[in-house]
Amino acid sequence: MRWATQLVQFEAAPGDPLAPAVTPLYQTATFRQPTATGGGAYDYSRSGNPTREVLERQLARLEGGCQAFAFASGMAAIDATLSLVPAGGAIVACSDLYGGTFRYLQQIAPSRGVGVTFADTTDPRRLDAVLGALTSDGPVMVLIETPSNPEMRITDLRAAAEIAHAHGAWLAVDNSLMSPYLQRPLALGADLVIHSATKFLNGHGQLTAGAVIARSPELAERVAWFQNAAGSALGPFDCWLLLSGLKTLALRMDRQQETARHIARVLDGREEVTTVYYPGLDSHPGADLHRRQADGPGSVLTVRMATPALGRQLVQASRLFANAVSFGSVSSTIELPGRMSHAPMADGDVAAGDALVRLSIGIEDVYDLEADLLAALCQAEIVV
Ligand SMILES: *Cc1c(COP(=O)(O)O)cnc(C)c1O
Repeated sequence: MRWATQLVQFEAAPGDPLAPAVTPLYQTATFRQPTATGGGAYDYSRSGNPTREVLERQLARLEGGCQAFAFASGMAAIDATLSLVPAGGAIVACSDLYGGTFRYLQQIAPSRGVGVTFADTTDPRRLDAVLGALTSDGPVMVLIETPSNPEMRITDLRAAAEIAHAHGAWLAVDNSLMSPYLQRPLALGADLVIHSATKFLNGHGQLTAGAVIARSPELAERVAWFQNAAGSALGPFDCWLLLSGLKTLALRMDRQQETARHIARVLDGREEVTTVYYPGLDSHPGADLHRRQADGPGSVLTVRMATPALGRQLVQASRLFANAVSFGSVSSTIELPGRMSHAPMADGDVAAGDALVRLSIGIEDVYDLEADLLAALCQAEIVV
């Protein structure tokens, strides 16, 4: 089956004798057991719920993993993944990554006795050197985002997996920016894929959710244990909403990406803009590598404006782009990463970072979006 088909053709309600065409919402905490000693297919929704199970099966199928797990947020999914590394172990993370992940790595992981090193993983030799120099005697995990966020740096997934495995480490990839429709890290050698399902997988900005997809049954078993033990699984209603949003993933992403390519070219030609970070532009340093490992550049782009004041103005003066964190929704958003999504990474002069603006392109009409941004740029000189 090809993508568009796979997204809507799946078993909606396994084992349900009424054969509903759409997955029902099993909004229940607990399940009656057939005998005093148990024996039901489900017992308690923290441990397992039919709506969640359909979602998890579908996510595993889309990412090509053996099992998937839905969590209450992307951060809960990251927590579940990084908890595979116990005290004494180490995490090597790419240096340009989501602000919340950075905060976790800076504050939570070390408090659990896990060593954290940041490395520029876009250079495979650097990753090799950092892993070679580690003195950890516990498990090691490499955590990367590609394209990274906000600067859209590209890491070679195949090379990273080979290097990680050569050092006995696991490779976990945060695939939120691409979704499985555009990039499937497990097929390139990764061991675990993480999603903030709040973004493209839901696609409608209605909920926060996360997912972990494991390649091997051995890793899946550990994530399953954590999901139940820590109690951070996604609730049935949010699973149900997410299942609904997921069905239009291909339609949404095709349209959003097509518009993003156009907006990237428009902004690239403006004198107020110094750099457009978008792997769909040939000028992007990682464009070729990205094309080899992904099926498209996606619909999130970051621009560096000529001045911080211009960045603030673009965000404030645009009307159709909501000034909001997050990305991947059907409606367009714009933000200053240094003030919002990446605020935990800010050090020193926050205002100087305002030149960096991140845009997430929705499904609105391309020319309305273009006109809105151009109008916002024109106001810039007057209002700042
Ligand atoms: C948003 C995001 C997260 C965190 O996800 P939440 O659903 O907000 O908890 C993690 N990684 C990336 C790349 C993100 O964009």
